[in-house]
Amino acid sequence: MRNIVVAGGGGFIGGHLVGALLAEGHHVRSVDCKPLEGWYQVHKNAENVVADLRGLDASMTACAGMDESFQLAADMGGMGFIENNRALCMLSVLINTHMVLAAKERGLQRFFYASSACVYNADRQKHEDVVPLREEDAYPAMPEDGYGWEKLFSERMCRHFREDFGIVTRIARYHNVYGPHGTWEGGREKAPAAICRKVIHAKATGELDIEIWGDGRQTRSFMYIDDCVKGTLDIMRSGIEEPINLGSSELVTINGLVDAVEDIAGVKLRRHYKLDAPKGVNGRNSDNTMIQRELGWEPSIRLRDGLELTYRWIHDEYVKKHG
Ligand code: NAD
Repeated sequence: MRNIVVAGGGGFIGGHLVGALLAEGHHVRSVDCKPLEGWYQVHKNAENVVADLRGLDASMTACAGMDESFQLAADMGGMGFIENNRALCMLSVLINTHMVLAAKERGLQRFFYASSACVYNADRQKHEDVVPLREEDAYPAMPEDGYGWEKLFSERMCRHFREDFGIVTRIARYHNVYGPHGTWEGGREKAPAAICRKVIHAKATGELDIEIWGDGRQTRSFMYIDDCVKGTLDIMRSGIEEPINLGSSELVTINGLVDAVEDIAGVKLRRHYKLDAPKGVNGRNSDNTMIQRELGWEPSIRLRDGLELTYRWIHDEYVKKHG
């Protein structure tokens, strides 16, 4: 049994990670700045703390008595949020800086940092028919403006803390994670949740239209939350010192994503393409050669299977809210 702090435990991935760590029998301190009512999951067996980790004092308190830290707290959202809130995204550097510093000062043994595929060079993501991104493609650096630059900087900081101060740091570059107990409305939601919600809304109201951001031909891969949690734990416990992709390699177009959700819902909608909406890069996929080599595993839950579970959860939330 270890003492583990999860920063961002009130969020989507953090909430699932806390559940998995508790199931393994660890003592978990889950920290988030949102009031408890806003947490996606409040695990009764965890020590649940509301604190703003942008401050060094709060980070020091969060790490007191802990053996390990998972740093997932960030001010983030889907493309609609990160393209319009670059300064807010960059301010997450305060959380990462203070949490890694507090981990060092408190003598924690391991520090995990949740990075993102948004660190990859934009020039390699201009076309829909993508070459999957390998870890070395992050350099020369030209990441997503704001959010991606902050992630890349924080990756470097972890690296130098490891090299100069000897703290064991592990970094996963998540590629689009989706699943239940995450953001599905309000402006921070990502494509799978947004599309599920739009389809559910169309069905509920009988207005059989859907707005799609971009021309629908953008390609992406989406990783179901259970694969994300397993990969996060395995990477944390591995000897992998360099940032590593954690993502599905099942490529799909946004139109294909809509097809799948329509199929689950048993409905066909009229599609309207909003070409000036934030849509991110044209194509992105995860090259999983490194994770296969290091862990003999890669995320493998089929998109269709994960979407069914996500759709069902968002449907229930929608009904709770709108009747
Ligand atoms: P999320 O927004 O659901 O969770 C992040 C949590 O951090 C939120 O609950 C938020 O309240 C909390 N937080 C923000 N500022 C804080 C502060 N100052 N102090 C304490 N807590 C604070 O997002 P998520 O999808 O669970 O993402 C978790 C991590 O994974 C983030 O670092 C994100 O950048 C990274 N990531 C996620 C994805 C994805 O597809 N979800 C992809 C790439 C990287």
